Amino acid sequence: MLKPVVDWDTCVGCGACTEVCPEVFQLKDDKAWVVGLEKCNTCNCQEAADICPVQAITVTEE
Ligand code: SF4
Repeated sequence: MLKPVVDWDTCVGCGACTEVCPEVFQLKDDKAWVVGLEKCNTCNCQEAADICPVQAITVTEE
């Protein structure tokens, strides 16, 4: 299963990942939270990782 992880020290809260993958990422307190981990296989989390301007998202296989 693919698992996206957000590095909160790096995330600047731009919201790009929540637009690409709104079922998985939501903004809260200006940080992206992974709220729908089980939805990761139905959308493209790698695209969210690629679009993040500060490379705060890594997608790992578990
Ligand atoms: S795209 Fe990156 S910087 Fe922007 S909210 Fe998502 S994790 Fe944070």
